[in-house]
Amino acid sequence: MKFDKYNIHEGIKTSLSKLDFKKPTDIQYKSIPAILKGEDVLAIAQTGTGKTAAFAIPVLHLLQIRKISGRPDGVKCLVMAPTHELALQIADVFTTLGKHTRVTTFCIHGGVDQQPQIDTLNDGVDVLVATPGRMFDLVSQGALRLTRVEILVLDEADHMLDMGFIKDIRDLMRLLPKKRQTLFFSATINETIKELAYSLVVNPIRIQISPKDPVAKNIEHGVAFVEMDDKRFFLEDFIRQNPGKKMLIFVRTKVRAERVKAAMERVGIVTETIHSDKEQAERELTMKNFRADELKILITTDVSARGIDIPDVHFVINYDLPDSAEQYVHRVGRTGRGTSKGQAIAFCSSEEKPMLEEIEASLGKPIHRIVMTGQEYHEILLEAKTPKDDWRALLAEEEDGKGKKKPKKK
Ligand code: ADP
Ligand code: MG
Repeated sequence: MKFDKYNIHEGIKTSLSKLDFKKPTDIQYKSIPAILKGEDVLAIAQTGTGKTAAFAIPVLHLLQIRKISGRPDGVKCLVMAPTHELALQIADVFTTLGKHTRVTTFCIHGGVDQQPQIDTLNDGVDVLVATPGRMFDLVSQGALRLTRVEILVLDEADHMLDMGFIKDIRDLMRLLPKKRQTLFFSATINETIKELAYSLVVNPIRIQISPKDPVAKNIEHGVAFVEMDDKRFFLEDFIRQNPGKKMLIFVRTKVRAERVKAAMERVGIVTETIHSDKEQAERELTMKNFRADELKILITTDVSARGIDIPDVHFVINYDLPDSAEQYVHRVGRTGRGTSKGQAIAFCSSEEKPMLEEIEASLGKPIHRIVMTGQEYHEILLEAKTPKDDWRALLAEEEDGKGKKKPKKK
């Protein structure tokens, strides 16, 4: 069924057609009617399958038809997300889809001045997208009241209900009206979290799309065995082999992110980093440049693993393996968005092999091996370690007459 046949507000249909969204994705097809009926929903669907619109479309419709006058009387829908970038992205989807409705959307997150946020809240906001930290600050100062919330959405729900956030979520639930609609969306969920989720809602409808393989089939993913100290040379080689391609590189820590950036800088490769030690304004600018294709290579920690939707990321590189199988699924899911294809490659060192086994066990199948002979491995190292812009090396090569590059240490 196409969107134009749906019983949703015309303004939303206008926005959908402007976005060229003709028919719903599987998760949208299943979630939209249930949410419109007022059900609690736990929806699990692979990365990049359009979960945001799966809740944004019905929420916008419900709020639009319930909105009697333009007068602000408190937040009606609260959407919680784990990171600033994701919260901003979700708010953007609501704003775009809700452009021809009377529903207003606003995003609050930490790292920026709070007064402008308070002013906007006072003007009246229907949909509030927030990360937990700033939201609780504003609630405790009395600047934000949640007593009129009718719909609560947890995006990346398994993560939001996980240890780091569960206390916040429980506290939050106490602040919300008992009678409300609760929606959980994620690409991954384990049994413990699933039980916890059920304990928080009334008779939820469970919607699960292709649960067998959590990695979407349009993502090709493989692993290469590369020792820790050699990773930067393999990264350099990979970048040179794929000029102009957009890459998202995941590393284990913020310190490593900066180190890899510095290593690439030394060989003339421009990259940028995003992690939690960066200023919010800088994070936003970097993300904006990456989206706009002005920045091709972004090195990041897991802050960018979940939810971030940049349609044309060619490669995800797991420079370090993540520390959980779920996180692997989310990281590789940053490529192959919607109907586009994507590729992901992981560098696995000897120390990381147990983690690889754990990830494979959880995926229920082995990850494709990118096989290299000892000689090929050695040649990549040799090539990367050869100074390329050193005119002496180039001259020596010429004189050598064989056209072969000699490894040369400075
Ligand atoms: P998920 O949350 O499932 O990872 P997103 O909601 O971020 O996925 O959407 C992934 C991409 O699919 C986005 O770029 C979005 O614009 C696009 N998309 C969503 N719904 C549709 C649709 N019905 N038709 C075409 N593209 C869509
Ligand atoms: Mg999402």
